[in-house]
Amino acid sequence: MNAPLLSVRGLAKHFPIKGGQVKAVDGVSFEVAAGETVALVGESGCGKSTTGRMLLRLTEPSAGTISFDGVDLLGLGRTDLRRRRRELQIVFQDPYSSLSPRNRVEDIIAEPLDVHGLCASREQRRDRVIELLRLVGLDAIHLRRHPFEFSGGQRQRIAIARALAPQPRLIVADEPVSALDVSVQAQVVNLMQDLQEKFGLAYVFISHDLAVVRHIAHRVAVMYLGRLVEMGSTETLFAAPHHPYTQALLSAAPVADPERRRTRIVLSGDVPSPANAPSGCHFHPRCPVAQAVCRESVPELRDMGNGHMAACHFGKPFPISV
Ligand code: SF4
Repeated sequence: MNAPLLSVRGLAKHFPIKGGQVKAVDGVSFEVAAGETVALVGESGCGKSTTGRMLLRLTEPSAGTISFDGVDLLGLGRTDLRRRRRELQIVFQDPYSSLSPRNRVEDIIAEPLDVHGLCASREQRRDRVIELLRLVGLDAIHLRRHPFEFSGGQRQRIAIARALAPQPRLIVADEPVSALDVSVQAQVVNLMQDLQEKFGLAYVFISHDLAVVRHIAHRVAVMYLGRLVEMGSTETLFAAPHHPYTQALLSAAPVADPERRRTRIVLSGDVPSPANAPSGCHFHPRCPVAQAVCRESVPELRDMGNGHMAACHFGKPFPISV
């Protein structure tokens, strides 16, 4: 097997609070191959966005390692990190706030070209921006316009063009379609897939929307209260999840075909605050099959077969008709 493009080991982010600390991310490990999409899923507050930001060092980790193309990202100084960022880009959830409202589209998309000194002349810069606009399905006519003149879907296309500008190898996409109308979501997801095929891009795709994840991801990593609880190929994870939390998430996801509806597993209570995470398995107060050991002991991520990992003392496949 080829070396992964991105390898994350024991990544953690702990925020100090009065009398303790919040473990927003608590020892997360995963890999992403070139050209692969790995989805990070989980409810709001599970640490997936913090994990995404740490991959680019927009948030500095408290512990762990991040290796990108064999280079230790956390060991890089400011200048080397800026150089490396050319290959690692991010697209945020909200295209309304992630694009500077005062700038014209040309300057927004050209920003990474300017930062990395990738264009020798104004003509070359403009030609490259026009090329990028076309790659994301927009016309050169938009060059002089401002973000407010576009729809949400068009703004996210502009954000994707900006991320593509320095020819990255990996893009962290943090809920890239959740602020968009459902009818527009599929178009943007399809665009991302086309670009992946064209340029061999890898994605870390952060989402709470399982239908979108199922469509785009090759592998899925499920997070709960700062920890990875299950990880496997999209096909296996959706067909036979091992972890009770994944089983509950999938059972709650809407399914159009009534023949395929699953028995809904209703979880008691809300996700606890990471400032007050339960002992042992964080999921135990809500888990329908918790035992005494779950309160005491943290379950390790274990290989359940064929590289499918789950962190449950009693994890076993839960076949779901799909
Ligand atoms: Fe449920 Fe226990 Fe498994 Fe946690 S370790 S998911 S509480 S059965």
